[in-house]
Amino acid sequence: MTYPHWPITIGILGGGQLALMLARSASQLGMATLVLDPAPSCPAGASAKHGQGHWTDAEALADFAKGADVITVENEFVEAESLARLEQLGHTVLPSSGTMRLVQDKLVQKQTLRGAGVPVTEFLAVSSQHDLDEAMRMFGFPIILKKRTLGYDGTGNFTVSTPADIWSGVRRLGGFEAGLYAEKWCPFSKELAVIVTRGRQGQTVLYPVTETRQHEHVCSDVLVPCQITPQEAEAAAQMALRSVEAVSGVGSFGIELFQLPDGNLVLNEMSPRVHNSGHYTLEACDCSQFENHIRAVCGLPLGSTRLRSAAAMVNVLAKSTGTGYPCGMAEAMAIPGASVHFYGKLRASPGRKMGHVTALGASATSALETAKLAAAQISFKE
Ligand code: ATP
Ligand code: MG
Repeated sequence: MTYPHWPITIGILGGGQLALMLARSASQLGMATLVLDPAPSCPAGASAKHGQGHWTDAEALADFAKGADVITVENEFVEAESLARLEQLGHTVLPSSGTMRLVQDKLVQKQTLRGAGVPVTEFLAVSSQHDLDEAMRMFGFPIILKKRTLGYDGTGNFTVSTPADIWSGVRRLGGFEAGLYAEKWCPFSKELAVIVTRGRQGQTVLYPVTETRQHEHVCSDVLVPCQITPQEAEAAAQMALRSVEAVSGVGSFGIELFQLPDGNLVLNEMSPRVHNSGHYTLEACDCSQFENHIRAVCGLPLGSTRLRSAAAMVNVLAKSTGTGYPCGMAEAMAIPGASVHFYGKLRASPGRKMGHVTALGASATSALETAKLAAAQISFKE
């Protein structure tokens, strides 16, 4: 494909850390990036031109799109309707509105992937007392109530341990009108994740399977390679590919899997965007998930996903509410082998992702020690 001009300008809806890392990859290729984000200041503003506005504002959206050759997203919250509006105006939007419609509502996503033959956690839509009774009867306890849309870092989840808790869960998540579904508790032994990048012509590349570990529903660290058999890795890869193909996804997608004690895998969820479990690819792979996303949405050749070294990534999470001012950065940077990433968020709140540390090592566990040590140095001023 020949572009009439270079730099290509990438438009990204959302300006958080994922957009920041996408913008950096775009700039390495001599491309420019625009982001649309409602906040007056956003992490991606450090490497991209930031337009303040919301994608639900049709005028702001159309204005933003005029400056971009291709439009993509950094989160699954941009409504498919907004993307469809851009497509109607003649813009190239990837992933497309059709893909986003199938993925951004987790209930529709689960129905779609189950329909495509991907094993998913057992689930049931709930919008009445009758449905809750049915979920309790079918799944036993615990049950996880989840919001169909707008959840992240566990904010849309509520674990119900007894029948008496179920209504507090419904209320905490905003009531049935918020759009809820119930999931059977999955007794996983490990959580795994795979990033797939799919190009405009349907060509795909796969990154190695990672082990992800979450604390209170938030990812704390990621290890690669992970301790699974080659057959299990192949099964994970096939599930990931089938999932992205089922929604005709274009770009980098994150697929989260549960591994059961018998080794079998079930899909937890798919994200139509670059993913926290793939941050390590910046240092550890020939071509990162970010660069491959840019390549995919631009219709350019996809890069090699070869793992150069075992690696681990640790998220730097804020512990309390306060400023985003980081203390201990120099101490973290003094740890040999630690690559420290800081997103420049202005405010900290409990569990908020403020940065991450990646380390390479002879094994994922030795890399994890290095990354943890560096991440532990960083805290935020009250
Ligand atoms: P994120 O944005 O971090 O991916 P999320 O808000 O989209 O998270 P989920 O991925 O649905 O939420 O859930 C977060 C975590 O909660 C999972 O990684 C897992 O540890 C736990 N969890 C979710 N669903 C189940 C389930 N059905 N059984 C057991 N644990 C679960
Ligand atoms: Mg998740």
